[in-house]
Amino acid sequence: MDTHATRRSLLARAAALAAVPAIGSVVADTALGSPAIAADATDLPDYAPVPRSSLGPAINSQGYYVGRIKRNLYWVTDGTYVSAFLTTRDGVVLLDAPPSLGHNIQRAIDDVTKPNGLTNKVTHLIYSHHHSDHAGGSGIFGRRVTRIGHSETRRLLIRDNDPNKPAPEETFDDHRVLHIGGERIELAWHGANHTPDNIYIHLPDHDTLMLVDVALPG
Ligand SMILES: [Zn+2]
Repeated sequence: MDTHATRRSLLARAAALAAVPAIGSVVADTALGSPAIAADATDLPDYAPVPRSSLGPAINSQGYYVGRIKRNLYWVTDGTYVSAFLTTRDGVVLLDAPPSLGHNIQRAIDDVTKPNGLTNKVTHLIYSHHHSDHAGGSGIFGRRVTRIGHSETRRLLIRDNDPNKPAPEETFDDHRVLHIGGERIELAWHGANHTPDNIYIHLPDHDTLMLVDVALPG
Protein backbone atom coordinates (compact mmCIF):
# COMPACT_ATOMS: atom_id res chain seq x y z
CA MET A 1 0.00 0.00 0.00
CA ASP A 2 3.01 2.24 0.33
CA THR A 3 3.24 3.13 -3.33
CA HIS A 4 4.52 6.55 -4.27
CA ALA A 5 1.07 7.45 -5.50
CA THR A 6 -0.45 6.54 -2.17
CA ARG A 7 2.16 8.56 -0.34
CA ARG A 8 1.59 11.56 -2.56
CA SER A 9 -2.12 11.26 -2.00
CA LEU A 10 -1.67 11.08 1.76
CA LEU A 11 0.72 14.00 1.81
CA ALA A 12 -1.54 16.08 -0.39
CA ARG A 13 -4.45 15.48 1.91
CA ALA A 14 -2.25 16.08 4.93
CA ALA A 15 -1.18 19.40 3.47
CA ALA A 16 -4.79 20.32 2.88
CA LEU A 17 -5.61 19.57 6.48
CA ALA A 18 -2.71 21.53 7.93
CA ALA A 19 -3.48 25.04 9.03
CA VAL A 20 -0.98 27.40 7.48
CA PRO A 21 -1.46 30.94 8.77
CA ALA A 22 0.47 32.40 5.81
CA ILE A 23 -2.22 31.12 3.47
CA GLY A 24 -4.87 32.64 5.69
CA SER A 25 -3.36 36.09 5.41
CA VAL A 26 -3.19 35.78 1.63
CA VAL A 27 -6.87 34.85 1.58
CA ALA A 28 -7.71 37.80 3.81
CA ASP A 29 -5.77 40.25 1.63
CA THR A 30 -7.44 38.89 -1.47
CA ALA A 31 -10.87 39.09 0.10
CA LEU A 32 -10.29 42.69 0.97
CA GLY A 33 -8.90 43.33 -2.48
CA SER A 34 -6.15 45.37 -0.89
CA PRO A 35 -5.29 48.05 -3.49
CA ALA A 36 -1.99 48.85 -1.76
CA ILE A 37 -0.75 45.32 -2.26
CA ALA A 38 -1.95 45.21 -5.84
CA ALA A 39 -0.31 48.57 -6.65
CA ASP A 40 3.02 47.52 -5.18
CA ALA A 41 3.08 44.12 -6.83
CA THR A 42 4.82 45.41 -9.97
CA ASP A 43 7.75 46.66 -7.90
CA LEU A 44 8.41 43.33 -6.28
CA PRO A 45 11.33 41.17 -7.42
CA ASP A 46 10.55 38.02 -9.32
CA TYR A 47 8.21 35.74 -7.48
CA ALA A 48 5.84 32.97 -8.37
CA PRO A 49 2.20 33.95 -8.12
CA VAL A 50 0.23 32.27 -5.35
CA PRO A 51 -1.33 29.18 -6.94
CA ARG A 52 -5.10 29.39 -7.21
CA SER A 53 -5.38 26.09 -5.36
CA SER A 54 -3.55 27.59 -2.37
CA LEU A 55 -6.25 30.19 -1.83
CA GLY A 56 -8.71 27.54 -0.75
CA PRO A 57 -12.44 27.37 -1.34
CA ALA A 58 -14.83 30.29 -0.92
CA ILE A 59 -16.39 30.41 2.53
CA ASN A 60 -20.11 31.02 3.00
CA SER A 61 -21.81 34.02 4.62
CA GLN A 62 -21.55 32.37 8.03
CA GLY A 63 -17.81 32.06 7.62
CA TYR A 64 -17.09 28.45 6.74
CA TYR A 65 -16.79 25.94 3.95
CA VAL A 66 -17.53 22.25 4.39
CA GLY A 67 -16.49 19.68 1.82
CA ARG A 68 -16.18 15.94 1.41
CA ILE A 69 -12.73 14.35 1.55
CA LYS A 70 -13.93 10.84 0.84
CA ARG A 71 -17.24 9.07 1.52
CA ASN A 72 -18.29 9.95 5.08
CA LEU A 73 -15.15 11.96 5.90
CA TYR A 74 -15.47 15.76 5.58
CA TRP A 75 -13.39 18.84 6.23
CA VAL A 76 -14.48 22.27 7.35
CA THR A 77 -12.47 25.49 7.18
CA ASP A 78 -12.85 29.18 7.99
CA GLY A 79 -10.26 30.02 5.32
CA THR A 80 -7.34 29.61 7.69
CA TYR A 81 -8.01 26.84 10.19
CA VAL A 82 -9.18 23.36 9.38
CA SER A 83 -11.11 20.69 11.18
CA ALA A 84 -12.39 17.35 9.92
CA PHE A 85 -15.14 14.99 10.95
CA LEU A 86 -16.29 11.48 10.25
CA THR A 87 -19.99 10.69 10.26
CA THR A 88 -20.83 7.22 11.55
CA ARG A 89 -24.00 5.29 12.30
CA ASP A 90 -23.46 5.92 16.03
CA GLY A 91 -22.37 9.55 16.02
CA VAL A 92 -19.85 12.01 14.66
CA VAL A 93 -16.11 11.80 15.33
CA LEU A 94 -14.56 15.26 15.30
CA LEU A 95 -10.87 15.75 14.52
CA ASP A 96 -9.80 18.97 16.27
CA ALA A 97 -12.02 21.91 17.24
CA PRO A 98 -10.42 25.23 16.26
CA PRO A 99 -12.09 28.08 18.20
CA SER A 100 -12.02 30.24 15.06
CA LEU A 101 -14.53 27.79 13.59
CA GLY A 102 -16.38 27.47 16.89
CA HIS A 103 -20.11 26.88 16.43
CA ASN A 104 -19.63 26.66 12.67
CA ILE A 105 -18.27 23.15 13.24
CA GLN A 106 -21.70 21.96 14.37
CA ARG A 107 -23.36 23.92 11.54
CA ALA A 108 -21.12 22.15 9.03
CA ILE A 109 -21.92 18.79 10.62
CA ASP A 110 -25.63 19.63 10.44
CA ASP A 111 -25.27 20.56 6.75
CA VAL A 112 -23.88 17.12 5.99
CA THR A 113 -25.83 14.85 8.32
CA LYS A 114 -29.38 16.20 8.24
CA PRO A 115 -30.02 15.78 4.50
CA ASN A 116 -28.74 12.20 4.82
CA GLY A 117 -30.79 11.31 7.88
CA LEU A 118 -27.65 10.71 9.96
CA THR A 119 -27.11 11.61 13.59
CA ASN A 120 -25.45 15.00 13.99
CA LYS A 121 -24.36 14.32 17.56
CA VAL A 122 -20.63 14.61 18.17
CA THR A 123 -19.71 11.63 20.33
CA HIS A 124 -15.90 11.67 20.04
CA LEU A 125 -13.29 14.40 19.69
CA ILE A 126 -9.72 13.54 18.78
CA TYR A 127 -7.07 16.14 19.55
CA SER A 128 -4.14 16.44 17.13
CA HIS A 129 -2.19 18.34 19.79
CA HIS A 130 -2.78 20.64 22.74
CA HIS A 131 -2.52 24.10 21.12
CA SER A 132 -5.50 26.37 21.76
CA ASP A 133 -5.89 27.38 18.11
CA HIS A 134 -6.81 23.77 17.27
CA ALA A 135 -8.29 22.57 20.57
CA GLY A 136 -9.93 25.68 22.04
CA GLY A 137 -13.37 25.02 20.56
CA SER A 138 -13.63 21.69 22.35
CA GLY A 139 -15.57 23.06 25.31
CA ILE A 140 -18.53 23.86 23.03
CA PHE A 141 -19.24 20.13 22.82
CA GLY A 142 -19.72 19.77 26.55
CA ARG A 143 -19.05 16.89 28.86
CA ARG A 144 -20.77 14.09 27.02
CA VAL A 145 -18.12 13.91 24.30
CA THR A 146 -15.38 11.33 24.66
CA ARG A 147 -12.07 13.13 24.16
CA ILE A 148 -9.08 11.19 22.89
CA GLY A 149 -5.47 12.29 22.57
CA HIS A 150 -1.85 11.54 23.29
CA SER A 151 -0.86 11.11 26.94
CA GLU A 152 1.30 14.22 26.63
CA THR A 153 -1.70 16.15 25.29
CA ARG A 154 -3.54 15.16 28.45
CA ARG A 155 -0.66 16.30 30.64
CA LEU A 156 -0.37 19.64 28.85
CA LEU A 157 -4.12 20.32 28.87
CA ILE A 158 -4.34 19.54 32.58
CA ARG A 159 -1.48 21.99 33.03
CA ASP A 160 -3.27 24.64 30.92
CA ASN A 161 -6.46 24.15 32.98
CA ASP A 162 -8.63 25.82 30.32
CA PRO A 163 -12.36 24.89 30.28
CA ASN A 164 -12.38 25.56 26.53
CA LYS A 165 -10.06 22.60 25.92
CA PRO A 166 -10.73 19.85 28.46
CA ALA A 167 -8.04 17.19 28.78
CA PRO A 168 -8.72 13.91 26.96
CA GLU A 169 -9.95 11.11 29.20
CA GLU A 170 -8.73 8.46 26.76
CA THR A 171 -5.06 8.49 25.88
CA PHE A 172 -2.35 6.48 24.17
CA ASP A 173 1.45 6.59 24.00
CA ASP A 174 2.54 5.12 20.64
CA HIS A 175 -0.35 3.63 18.71
CA ARG A 176 -4.05 3.20 19.17
CA VAL A 177 -6.70 1.89 16.81
CA LEU A 178 -10.24 3.16 17.28
CA HIS A 179 -13.34 1.41 16.00
CA ILE A 180 -16.25 3.81 16.22
CA GLY A 181 -19.59 3.25 14.55
CA GLY A 182 -18.07 0.72 12.16
CA GLU A 183 -15.22 3.05 11.14
CA ARG A 184 -11.50 2.63 11.72
CA ILE A 185 -9.19 5.41 12.88
CA GLU A 186 -5.50 4.81 13.61
CA LEU A 187 -3.67 7.17 15.93
CA ALA A 188 0.12 7.21 16.07
CA TRP A 189 2.82 9.19 17.76
CA HIS A 190 6.14 9.22 15.89
CA GLY A 191 8.11 11.52 18.16
CA ALA A 192 8.06 15.25 18.72
CA ASN A 193 7.68 17.46 15.66
CA HIS A 194 5.62 20.67 15.83
CA THR A 195 5.02 19.96 19.51
CA PRO A 196 5.94 17.08 21.81
CA ASP A 197 2.40 15.72 21.52
CA ASN A 198 1.50 16.19 17.84
CA ILE A 199 0.04 12.95 16.45
CA TYR A 200 -0.75 11.32 13.10
CA ILE A 201 -4.44 10.64 12.56
CA HIS A 202 -4.77 8.01 9.85
CA LEU A 203 -8.04 6.95 8.27
CA PRO A 204 -6.90 4.00 6.14
CA ASP A 205 -10.33 3.33 4.69
CA HIS A 206 -10.51 6.95 3.52
CA ASP A 207 -6.92 7.17 2.16
CA THR A 208 -6.36 10.13 4.43
CA LEU A 209 -3.68 11.17 6.87
CA MET A 210 -4.19 14.20 9.08
CA LEU A 211 -1.06 15.89 10.41
CA VAL A 212 -1.53 19.40 11.71
CA ASP A 213 0.82 22.40 11.74
CA VAL A 214 3.62 20.65 9.87
CA ALA A 215 4.41 21.92 6.37
CA LEU A 216 5.59 19.29 3.90
CA PRO A 217 7.13 21.13 0.92
CA GLY A 218 7.25 19.00 -2.20
ZN1 LIG B 1 0.03 23.96 17.01
